[in-house]
Amino acid sequence: MAYSDEDINWAHDRADGHCFYCGIRLSFKNYGIVGAHAAWEIDHFIPLSRGGPDQPYNWVPACVDCNTRKSDLFPWEFDPLRFEEDDRDPDNYV
Ligand SMILES: [Zn+2]
Repeated sequence: MAYSDEDINWAHDRADGHCFYCGIRLSFKNYGIVGAHAAWEIDHFIPLSRGGPDQPYNWVPACVDCNTRKSDLFPWEFDPLRFEEDDRDPDNYV
């Protein structure tokens, strides 16, 4: 999936340059360069495969490690401690 520079900037700034999940500082210039230091990708908060839209409001920045491990999980399946039971309805996010 190809994103514009504007999209990449938007996603990066959304979590102030940190991975949305583990919080490490990302290397902006290493966007999409798997294996590079602090490389990152645009994660679909609600996975595309589970009904999430490919729209900016569903994008968060994630380091490659988190994005790979999250894969097609809902965020509360990936990081259950962060989401209260009441916050686990995908319809609240899309
Ligand atoms: Zn991470």
